[in-house]
Amino acid sequence: MIDTDRMHEWMQESRSCCGSGRTADYIPELAKVPPDLLGICIHPIGSRPAGFGDCGIPFTLQSISKVFTLILALMDRGEEEVFRKVGMEPTGDNFNSMVKLELVEPGKPFNPMINAGAITITSLIAGGTANERFERVLRLIRTLAGDDSIGCNEAVYRSEAATADRNRSLAYFLKHNKVLEGDVESHLDVYFKHCSIEVNCGHVARMAMILANQGRDPESGGQLIPARYVQIAKVFMTTCGMYNASGEFAIKVGIPAKSGVSGGILGVVPGRMGIGVFGPALDEKGNSVAGVHLLEKLSQAWELSIF
Ligand code: GLN
Repeated sequence: MIDTDRMHEWMQESRSCCGSGRTADYIPELAKVPPDLLGICIHPIGSRPAGFGDCGIPFTLQSISKVFTLILALMDRGEEEVFRKVGMEPTGDNFNSMVKLELVEPGKPFNPMINAGAITITSLIAGGTANERFERVLRLIRTLAGDDSIGCNEAVYRSEAATADRNRSLAYFLKHNKVLEGDVESHLDVYFKHCSIEVNCGHVARMAMILANQGRDPESGGQLIPARYVQIAKVFMTTCGMYNASGEFAIKVGIPAKSGVSGGILGVVPGRMGIGVFGPALDEKGNSVAGVHLLEKLSQAWELSIF
């Protein structure tokens, strides 16, 4: 049972950290969100979810989608083909950095959680057209979140597509190096769209709960994702899910997690629960200030660390 009074206390304390962060402004539509929102949903395996604060406010998945595009690409292509294109190592750089692309193994992105890696992964998703590939990502998200009404936030999608000079340059660099094949613009279009899938904390908590349950939906008993691919996703979340703050997050919170520049965080507590957090004010690495603070509190109180 969750102690509601304590939860509200932690939420208030975490909300007070929002002032030290800022909403993402390189995607103009994200800059419009009030920075002091904070919501969380906890979904234990096999019992009802519990939501607190602004847990019903919609936000876009942004980089949280990278976990699910990786899973889908693995399901479509298998490990060998995926890891021929994308590496398995953290970079220690920002999520949209290009530094290592040229320095180390020319053209091969270090991992699927940075933008270069995720754009490459998006290109591996099966489907005849860009729209079909996006629809397959959306279908996976809807199934895991348990809500068929989930869709794409058109304004955020258009806002990112219109301002994505950096992602475009990464993608064309990847094409030049023959990592990305086919039509770059259509790969980017699918990428911008899956980043713009709109969810709330409850959806993210349910998606995380299924990962915490090794890919099995405890309600239907269906194996939605092969356990091996959930294992791979959890490894990347642990080593690179919080960008170049993943080491610090592992020490302070200690759970596989993935954040997005909208301020969302998906947290997986293996065998126990899924967590969805939303707090749009970000620190300089692009992680939710209040969200990380709140997860730290929960991890200490409930002994969530896997280490
Ligand atoms: N759509 C965003 C981008 O490509 C996702 C980045 C993120 O959430 N870190 O820049």
